[in-house]
Amino acid sequence: MRKNIVAGNWKMNTDLQEGLKLAKEINALVAKGLNDSNTGVVIAPPYTHLATINEHIDREKICLAAQNCAAEAKGAYTGEVSVQMLKAVGVRAVILGHSERRAYYGETSEILLKKVKLVIENGLKPIFCCGEVLAERESNIHFNVVKEQIESVLFTLSAEDYKRVIIAYEPVWAIGTGKTASAEQAQEMHAFIRQLIVGKFGAEAANNTTILYGGSCKASNAKEIFSKPDVDGGLIGGASLVAEEFLGIVNAF
Ligand code: PEP
Repeated sequence: MRKNIVAGNWKMNTDLQEGLKLAKEINALVAKGLNDSNTGVVIAPPYTHLATINEHIDREKICLAAQNCAAEAKGAYTGEVSVQMLKAVGVRAVILGHSERRAYYGETSEILLKKVKLVIENGLKPIFCCGEVLAERESNIHFNVVKEQIESVLFTLSAEDYKRVIIAYEPVWAIGTGKTASAEQAQEMHAFIRQLIVGKFGAEAANNTTILYGGSCKASNAKEIFSKPDVDGGLIGGASLVAEEFLGIVNAF
């Protein structure tokens, strides 16, 4: 059975002190036990916090993730952080292809494929984001957009490498806007993505793929969204910065 996951993307928020406090609060709430034992908790703090937070969380219960990584393994790439560096401080998953990285930092499928491969080669898991902007949904090309994002990166992987992938469908018009996709819209796209995977890697691989929804997900709407059969959890931005709210989402399962 595939795992449910709720992942918090802290983005460029919190200084180290605030981030450590938040991580400790999340850790304490997770220690009390979750409603559903099949739900995994992931947190993705800024790079500068990772090594410290790794020392203060129960690593059996919380998976530490990064929000990005370099597209090269090592060398003269000033300002970049490699997958190996992340691994050495306890990181086990990396968010890749977030719409903010695609839009503000020009991350193309070509760049993302290099990053996804490095993450997998190092034994970590990519949380691969896809999703359409509002104009694409309004022009009714959202399925094609997501198909192209997935095919150009994930469908070039070997079947073995693909097994490590987690997908996050994040309609860009719902990110940070307070406008959540309806549970039906989420389910429709998740089912479409799962069918694409069936076509490429087969039914078993599709059934084992965790597909997260992201976009203004909160404790108050998570239950309805997560009740859909192809929605296996959430990638949470704003609401992951308050421990009780984040755990409210985790415990929506
Ligand atoms: C995100 O950035 O991945 C996200 C889903 O943000 P928010 O929850 O704030 O919409």
